Amino acid sequence: MTHIDPASELTRELGSVLNPVRYLGGEYGQIIKESADLTFALSFPDLYEIAMSNLAIKILYDGLNRLPSVRCERVFAPAPDFEELLKRKKLPLYTLESGIPVNETDILGISIGYEPGITGLLAILDTGCVPLHCADRTESDPIVLAGGCGITNPAPFSQFIDAFFIGEAEAGLFRLVGELAVLKRSGASRSDLLAHIAAHPAVWTAGKDMARKNGAPCARRAVYDGFGNSSDRAVCFPVPHMRVVQDHGVVEIMRGCPNGCRFCHAGMYYRPQRMMGIERILSDVDYLVHRGGYREVSLMSLSSGDYAGIDNLLSELTARYAHKNVSFQLPSLKVNSFTLPLLEKMAEIRKSGLTFAVETPVDAWQLALNKEVYRDKMVDIMLEAKRRGWSKAKFYFMVGLPVEKGGKKEEEEIVNFLLDIQDRTRIQCTANIGIFIPKPHTPYQWSKQLDTVEADRKLGFIRRSLPPGKFKVSTPWSFNSFTEAMMSRGDRRVGDIILEAYKRGCRLDAWDDWAKPEVWRAVISEASWDVAAETTRERSLDEVLPWDGVNLGVTKDFLKREKTRSDREELTRACSLDCVEPCGVCGGKTAVQVEESKPETNNGLALPEMPARPGEASHRVVVSFTKKKEAAFIPHLSLIEIWHKAFQRSGLPVIFTEGFNPMPRFEIAQSLSLGVGSDEEIASFMFDREIGVDEIMAAMNESLPGNLRITRAFVYPLTKQIRREALTKFLWGNSYVYSFYDKNVMDAVFADSRFTGFVAAHPGSMLSVFASRDSSVNVRLPFHSDRPFRNLIAEIAILPIHEVVKIHKTASLAFNPDPSGEPVDFFEAFIPVAEMNRRLVAEEKASGK
Ligand code: SF4
Repeated sequence: MTHIDPASELTRELGSVLNPVRYLGGEYGQIIKESADLTFALSFPDLYEIAMSNLAIKILYDGLNRLPSVRCERVFAPAPDFEELLKRKKLPLYTLESGIPVNETDILGISIGYEPGITGLLAILDTGCVPLHCADRTESDPIVLAGGCGITNPAPFSQFIDAFFIGEAEAGLFRLVGELAVLKRSGASRSDLLAHIAAHPAVWTAGKDMARKNGAPCARRAVYDGFGNSSDRAVCFPVPHMRVVQDHGVVEIMRGCPNGCRFCHAGMYYRPQRMMGIERILSDVDYLVHRGGYREVSLMSLSSGDYAGIDNLLSELTARYAHKNVSFQLPSLKVNSFTLPLLEKMAEIRKSGLTFAVETPVDAWQLALNKEVYRDKMVDIMLEAKRRGWSKAKFYFMVGLPVEKGGKKEEEEIVNFLLDIQDRTRIQCTANIGIFIPKPHTPYQWSKQLDTVEADRKLGFIRRSLPPGKFKVSTPWSFNSFTEAMMSRGDRRVGDIILEAYKRGCRLDAWDDWAKPEVWRAVISEASWDVAAETTRERSLDEVLPWDGVNLGVTKDFLKREKTRSDREELTRACSLDCVEPCGVCGGKTAVQVEESKPETNNGLALPEMPARPGEASHRVVVSFTKKKEAAFIPHLSLIEIWHKAFQRSGLPVIFTEGFNPMPRFEIAQSLSLGVGSDEEIASFMFDREIGVDEIMAAMNESLPGNLRITRAFVYPLTKQIRREALTKFLWGNSYVYSFYDKNVMDAVFADSRFTGFVAAHPGSMLSVFASRDSSVNVRLPFHSDRPFRNLIAEIAILPIHEVVKIHKTASLAFNPDPSGEPVDFFEAFIPVAEMNRRLVAEEKASGK
């Protein structure tokens, strides 16, 4: 098996790529298995920062790696600059953990939560050297297996994906992959493995769909019945090396939602509602705080307010973790008068905003959607919120819902609603207006989709009608909603459009930087069928739909009944244990799982022993640490965050700053340029007590990622009289090895009069080229000369510096305490400081201060 080491093989080129750390792995918590029977490349059709925030990816990574015979490694969509680099270097896209080329893995599994992500999959296949079409793959290619709520209509993607697993991974996928590993060990071929996958009842394949009899579905969604009773350990997942979209720990407290909103695809897909047991939630949070190092934890579900005892849970979590400055979020909380105190509780550490998912502004239309967000009730809630100190609120609406009646226009009603709310409450409003897409497997799957002209007219009306001083209005590109609708509602013909758009450069369409709507428009206009009409048209109730081969468990009869009720503006009762309006999902072992709310504050569980919040700073620790290989590409701010998390994991009594958002009092002497590796970076932090050097190094090295290692530490007491001095005050400069990629270029640089002039202008120790061997030189520079020196080399070579020379820092140097002396080893500068402080502390003690 090939292993690509990008930090070595692509060092020279990575400097020209945006956020290269996306492609390097090496994070804390990554799992590398030396051997396994089956290699599973776990992919996501978007960039690292989106993929690493995705809950499904975390669950899959953890679950697959628990299988002893399976090696699961991550591979995410490359940005176009990295895609181009790989093609230029003739390297295939590879997994982050071991650098295994995608085309050498057994299974490429992809989680698609959003249909337009499909072009991201094509980019992964293409750069991974895997044929785009299933029909072109051979026995040596991986099997492409997709899952997620974005593939419940597999037809448009069926020419690219070999098999679709419908439903929840815990309910069959892990077992299936374990079986594949056994088969592989016994010599099974790719075709054998694919046949085994296709035979699974939750798997849809194009072949099974074509062979369907009497219109019966060929794949039934797998539902994880053990969700609520799970006593498994927490999900283990690498902690990102750069800032990601959801940069906090996540605990899934509930799967499914009881409310049955008729427009909501996720609400149908994740039925029934299952609440996670409180003990498991507490142990998951514990794991995220102590092993993940997170200080923000999100309690995730489709509707967190529907978790029984959510207030008790939040009280308990806040009590357990306040001393560690950990805060909690409920990202999908329905705001009502009961949840305001809850929001206040969360704001004790960090303030969060108020968000209202209204969707539609008329009370009767709320009933049509099976919602109950009534205008007067909202005004009451907001007045109460204002009384409690909130001054801003965000409202979500959609246009194009199939609810308009009685000559009323939804865009006018949305504007009236917002003006009225603002007038009555004087709260600053943000309006977020989406375009509704009637998704498959919902009661609105037969409804008409708003065309782009009408959508733009409605959105334009709303934008123009809300005064900018009082409202911030955010609206989407109508064409993006159209392409999403085309993919989610279309048939196999859509696959040809996707492929052609991809070939003409479309990928990562959700990113403004890379979206190419004009290309999509051109491809759609060239199709031999009327794509717009087919995408937007209303379907008749007896029409055969492209997604009929997939059964999510919700019956078509139920969806039809719900559609009728929507037309009549009638509510359907929320899911409950004594369901009176069954949708078809529950039965056998599948049922609503409700966690009983316990009145006691701590739910009857013993609170863990809580160390006291660290007291006053009494000792300063100065450390040197390495920053090598992939760590050389970690941006400075991310490096600081990595240290913050490592402190949390270490359990050491690090002093935090005061204020609303406390942070560890930590500093790094100098920020290194991206791509510059180092044997000796200098950092410092403080404790409220003396701790031995060995203990500090052991605890921190256990808590930092592999290529960040503390090599030395120095501890000295702080006095009450002398202010702690910043590390930069001691920093003289650095020693480096400059390794030129081309000796001729090095000779040309060194012979250039600008270079010799620079050396002459920095006499003595200011710039010393100590020795030259081959194309490497040792260089010692005061730190303010680093940049001019590099700029000069780049200017003479007429190339970006990262293409001329590889720079590695070997030492940090401090000013000599004797001003006439040469720069010294960084730690030496602290010896007199430490001696003086020890003396002053002894004097302070003696005088009783
Ligand atoms: S069967 Fe009833 S309780 Fe179960 S998911 Fe359907 S509506 Fe909800």
